[in-house]
Order: sequence, then C-alpha cells, then structure tokens
Amino acid sequence: MTITTQDDLPLYGNFIDKKWQPALSGQTITLKNPSDGSDLALIARGSAEDIDLAVKAARKALSGPWGKMSATERGRIMQNIGQAVLKEIDLLTELEAKDVGKPLTQARADVIALARYLEFYGAAADKVHGETLPYQDGFTVMTIYEPQGVTGHIIPWNYPMQILGRSLGASLAMGNATVVKPAEEACLTILNFARIADEAGLPAGVLNVVTGLGLEAGAALSAHPDINHVSFTGSLRTGEAVQTAAAKHAVPVTLELGGKSPQIVFADADIDAALPYLVNAGIQNAGQTCSASSRILVQRDIYEDVVARMSERYKALIVGSALTDPSVGPVVSQRQKAIIDSYIELAKQDGLTIAAQGTLSSDAPKDGAYVLPTLIRDVPADHRLAQEEIFGPVQVIMPFDTEEEAIALANGTDYGLVCGVWTRDGARQMRMARSVQAGQVFVNNYGAAGGVELPFGGVKRSGHGREKGFEALYSFATLKTIAVWHG
Ligand code: NAD
Repeated sequence: MTITTQDDLPLYGNFIDKKWQPALSGQTITLKNPSDGSDLALIARGSAEDIDLAVKAARKALSGPWGKMSATERGRIMQNIGQAVLKEIDLLTELEAKDVGKPLTQARADVIALARYLEFYGAAADKVHGETLPYQDGFTVMTIYEPQGVTGHIIPWNYPMQILGRSLGASLAMGNATVVKPAEEACLTILNFARIADEAGLPAGVLNVVTGLGLEAGAALSAHPDINHVSFTGSLRTGEAVQTAAAKHAVPVTLELGGKSPQIVFADADIDAALPYLVNAGIQNAGQTCSASSRILVQRDIYEDVVARMSERYKALIVGSALTDPSVGPVVSQRQKAIIDSYIELAKQDGLTIAAQGTLSSDAPKDGAYVLPTLIRDVPADHRLAQEEIFGPVQVIMPFDTEEEAIALANGTDYGLVCGVWTRDGARQMRMARSVQAGQVFVNNYGAAGGVELPFGGVKRSGHGREKGFEALYSFATLKTIAVWHG
C-alpha cells in the first residue's frame, strides 16, 4: 500500500487490479476524526471512470487464476486473510476508533468479527453443492451453484469492517470478484483490509476498492451495466435509489435498510437479565446500528420500575473520545449529530418527557460530535420519534397492557429488522416470535452476541435478501440446472 502524504495528512488511493492509484480526476476527500473534529486522512474521490476500471479488473479476474481455483483453495486463501486481519488487530482497532468514533472495545470486537466472517465463509466455500433431481426416464438432471460474476458492495460508515466481512465473505466464497465502495465518512479499515488481503494472496482484481461520494462512485457502481449483484446497507432513501439503478440492468440487489426494532418486556420477565440488553442495544456504537433497539415496550405493571432502572443506567453512561474507550463515543460526523439533535429537540418541542440522559466526560474535546444518550418516555406510537430511524443514542419507552397490544405496537412501523421478547412464559415466547414482523427474533436476549452464523435481514422497509449465516452463500450464487439425455 502506498500511502503518500499531502498537507501532512496520509493520502490513500483506490485499490484497483492490485494497484494503488489516485482517482482519475485527481480529487480527494478529507476524512475527519469525530472525537475531536481534526482532519484524519485524505481519500480518493472516485467517480464513474474509476468504478468502470474496477469493474473491468474484477471481470478480468474471473477468467484468471481465481476463476479456475478450487473452492477449497479459495476458502483457504480467505481463512489466511482472516488470520492476517487478526495479526493487525491493534492497527485496525485504532484506525476504526479514529475514523468512526468507535470506543476501542467495540472497534476491537469489529476486527474480530471481520476475521470470523472470513473464517466462517472460507470454511464454507467448498460445502455448497447442488442436487440430482428425479426426472423422466433417460435423463439425469443436476443443479450446480456457480458464481454470479462481479458483485458490488456499497458499505455504510457505522460498521465498515463487519458489513464488509459479511457481504464480501459470502461473495468471495462463491467465487465472485468484487468492487467495494466504502462510505466517504469512514473507510480507512477497508482500505487497509485491501492491503492485508493482497498480501495474504488474494489474486489481482478479485477485490477492488473505490472510495468516493455516494452520488458519484456509489451511484456509478449500482448503475454499472457489467455488475451482476449489488449488496447495499444504509438508508431507506439510498436503498431505493440503488435498487432503481440496478433494476435498469435487471441486476439483483440485497438491501439492508435499518429499522426501528423493539424489545418487548412482559411483567413476568427476568428484569435483571433484561436491563443491560435494553440499554446496550440502544446505545452501542452511539445508537448507529441498523439493528439497534430504539423502542422499548413494557407491560404496564412493571413500566415505572423499568423506566426508573433504565434511567439509572443512562445516568451512568459517560460520553467521550473514542480512544479513551468510553461507554459511548461520538457519532460519526457533525452532520449525523445535527440529525440526532433535531429529534431530541422535536421531543422537547412536543412536550415529551426525557426520562434520563448520559453525561459528557469533562475531557471530551470540544469539537467532537457528541450526543448525550437520551431516554424518552411515554412516546405516542404514531409520533415521529416512535416511527423513524433516528440512528443515534436515543430510545423511546412506552407502556402496553395486553399481548395483542404489544404485537400491534411492535409491528406498527414501516420497518421489520429485529425484535426482542422478554418473558418466562414458553408458549408466549413462541406466539410472539411467530407474530412479530422481523427478520430476526431474540427471546430473552438481544442480538445473540453478533452471530456471524445467523441469517440476517429485514422484512417490510427494512429491506430484502439475507446476509450472514450459510444462507447468504446462496444469495451470491446462481443456480444452473443441467439435464443430460442419455437414453
Ligand atoms: P446512505 O445510505 O446515504 O449511505 C450509505 C452508503 O451508500 C455510503 O457508502 C454512501 O456513499 C452510499 N450512497 C449514498 N448515496 C448513494 C447513491 N445515490 N447511490 C449509491 N450509493 C450511495 O446513508 P448516510 O447518508 O450516510 O446516512 C443517512 C442515514 O442513513 C442515517 O441517519 C441512518 O438513518 C441511515 N443509515 C443506516 C445504516 C444501516 O446500517 N442500516 C447505515 C448508515 C446509515
């Protein structure tokens, strides 16, 4: 990796066909450190021409050594990359903390998750197989899974390493070649990952990374006529644009568009066990998590008790610079802070009650993008705070009386990504799990510690298609049926 400097800042190029190169336009974008507002690095401002080069490099790679390699060998290279990622855990952790504003503990967990995706999908590469099908006499019919071709991956800024790992892992395992467009707010770990993968033996052109703005490089990737699949994680609005662009070439897309995920707490629940999940699932990564639990629904008998006990936890949350490993870091940018602050302001204007907030550390740099974690109580179900994805450390809490009401509230938004249910009643656990509209349901836990193995994705406006788990491998493959007439 050639990192030169400009204005005393590291300058990163695009990674195309095993070579680091500046954007063809020569333009750059400045990355900021959200903990203190300082300039962090310069990245290439790639555009349609750079994307075109990357797609061509990926296409070429499919007819090179990668296209001829056995699935076992592909998987072995991926597992070697996973090991190489772990060897650089300290560097990647620090870069992610500075770039995204992630507290060190979370950034480190993300590096481990990236390595785990490569391990999981590398090991799975030679375990996807077709079938033979009973058919008419004289025929032998079989199905085989083949690579789709060139897959595009548009990655958001909130979990660059994890989201890269989950979509790239499944795609590479199936033998595709890839073009990655990381987010313009945070992409240093992805650029370093390209270097690590190259050094660990990934052949030329199999992974290309083009940085740049969404409306330029991102739009060009989703509209490119020689792409065979687009995987996108991000906002609903951009997801619609990506799907529309890809539809012009009949290209399949996987969309993961966030949510307004509830945790439902019944009066018989083990509240001591639930409490850390109720709060952490809302404030992890400063609430900038697609599967964040931003709505807490509590049965009325225990409502006041849960509000009080969550409030205590909120008051103990310290917000500070990512490198001090606080309970909550800054949000990714001043722009994101302004969006979140506007929701907290709206709550105040509409007379909603703020039950509790966290505390800003006395040594938090003054130009950081800090938002105090905020718990807002008794929010009406149709209020914007109970309906819209805020993507910040803000949770709403509201009471319900009956199981039917809990289901109606849980399902009463446009989204359907994740749902948590807390109850000791086994039959109710199953009734709730079957009734809520969500891609994942967690009973008496939330998130199952990440779960690389667990298929993930949404219903309704949370998107479609599944990533993670073995299931994702089929999303990045195409099924061919071969019917042989032999008489
Ligand atoms: P975004 O959806 O616009 O950006 C995500 C990725 O898409 C980035 O790589 C971006 O460069 C790219 N992109 C942007 N416009 C594009 C286009 N027209 N065509 C192709 N690619 C494009 O998200 P954002 O503007 O960074 O954040 C806005 C809101 O999106 C947040 O407040 C949050 O609600 C939501 N969001 C959700 C997730 C998630 O994990 N579900 C992640 C990031 C943001």
